[in-house]
Amino acid sequence: MVGGGPAGMSAALYLSRRGHAVTLVEKEDQLGGQFNLAWQAPGKEQMRAGLTSLENNVKKMVDSIVLGRPVDLEMVRETGPALLVWATGAVQNIPAIEGIQSQHTMTAIEYFKGIKAVKGPRVLVIGAGRAGLEIAERLGKEGFEVVATKRTDPIGSMMEVITKKLTLMRIEQMPRVTLMPHTTVKAFDKDGVLFEKDGESLKVPAFHTVILATGMVSSPGPDEAIQKAVSHVEVIGDASQVMDIYAAVFAGYQTALKY
Ligand SMILES: Cc1cc2nc3c(=O)[nH]c(=O)nc-3n(C[C@H](O)[C@H](O)[C@H](O)COP(=O)(O)OP(=O)(O)OC[C@H]3O[C@@H](n4cnc5c(N)ncnc54)[C@H](O)[C@@H]3O)c2cc1C
Repeated sequence: MVGGGPAGMSAALYLSRRGHAVTLVEKEDQLGGQFNLAWQAPGKEQMRAGLTSLENNVKKMVDSIVLGRPVDLEMVRETGPALLVWATGAVQNIPAIEGIQSQHTMTAIEYFKGIKAVKGPRVLVIGAGRAGLEIAERLGKEGFEVVATKRTDPIGSMMEVITKKLTLMRIEQMPRVTLMPHTTVKAFDKDGVLFEKDGESLKVPAFHTVILATGMVSSPGPDEAIQKAVSHVEVIGDASQVMDIYAAVFAGYQTALKY
């Protein structure tokens, strides 16, 4: 099992329950994947119980859990599995925007992991989807002046309906947070940022921090050499299609039923 996020943990758990000897390998030092970040937004703390419960069941049931080591060809050859479940999740999509290299930027994942400090007061969040909206709310609560843009789909896309409604209601009470739908960030220069909103160009003053919440894309699948080294390979969870925790857990369960 490659990847200890919800998809990998679920597949490991259900395959173990079906009597298979499972090795679950996670490259980070802890299980959970993006689920470790998902529960951290305002109002989502209760989600943590789901993560803890899945993790505890996995620790009880799964034969072998290896942390802090990425799966590569060498490890696959060492382990010699009959089935390789590839559940490596997703990586951040980074847009090419003119002048962005001159900005203090971080990805949404870097923000949630606390890897870089947010400089204020003005923060631009590019991509007001689920993660972007959660970041805008958190920074708004902390007193930052936030502009969150969304180019195509509706604000808060991929959020559960009630959570989204409540988040938008709380953000409405924050005068320093501005949501800008149908807005594309075109370029950064020394005078500020060029937006295109509903077909019109708009120049706004510069920001102290730019956070890229521009969506996730599936991480690369297993390379040819790895695929050749195993007779059965399954790619599941966000690594197959970027979805959510429920879809990832269900994919793990469904995969286990096949073996
Ligand atoms: C900020 C944020 C908020 C979110 N909020 C929600 C929400 O409210 N509701 C919801 O349903 N979903 C939410 N999601 C999405 C959800 O967390 C993901 O869809 C889900 O975690 C995907 O599960 P996964 O197991 O496929 O991938 P991941 O959770 O990404 O796990 C993949 C794991 O594989 C590991 N890995 C990668 N490569 C290797 C390798 N070569 N060897 C070993 N290990 C490897 C990674 O370190 C990672 O731990 C959120 C995501 C983020 C980032």
